[in-house]
Amino acid sequence: MRIAVCPGSFDPVTNGHIDIFERASNMVDLLIVAVFHNPNKNPRFSVTERVEMLQEATQHIPNIKVDCFSGLLNEYAKKQNSAIIIRGLRAILDFEYEFQRALLIKKIDPSLETVFMMARSEYSFISSTSIKELAKFGGSIKDLVPACLEERIIQRLGSQTRSY
Ligand code: ADP
Repeated sequence: MRIAVCPGSFDPVTNGHIDIFERASNMVDLLIVAVFHNPNKNPRFSVTERVEMLQEATQHIPNIKVDCFSGLLNEYAKKQNSAIIIRGLRAILDFEYEFQRALLIKKIDPSLETVFMMARSEYSFISSTSIKELAKFGGSIKDLVPACLEERIIQRLGSQTRSY
């Protein structure tokens, strides 16, 4: 059975992420989307909320499991019997960070392979950060995040309009 792990913050999940999940899930038997609990980041949605949102937004993909982890990615992947790590690549901006990360993982565990998938052009400008900004200032996030989560994201982030 071919198992891949797609790790990330997903704070919140965007249509760019969903596109990667859909394409990656076609190449493996099981795709584990894993929310990384990063103590260095200050997320707007808790790990539990992010897992919930991912579950809701990936219901149409039968071979996906949503999970969360903390600690080292290579150890988590091993525990899940996965030798493949999937990451999305947007622009040149992502490249350096992702390249460094992939090399580091390779050094720690040579049996793990990081596979990059290019973002689709219509989603390549979407980031969780830009969604948070847009929602915060009352901009439309329609078509940028899964429709089933739009309301929830606006409810949570959209309250700060015009507070100087
Ligand atoms: P992290 O904090 O680990 O970078 P993110 O949730 O920001 O987590 O991203 C998870 C993965 O999804 C990363 O590989 C990132 O490059 C990729 N990604 C983010 N936004 C998009 C997008 N719009 N299209 C394709 N891939 C994306």
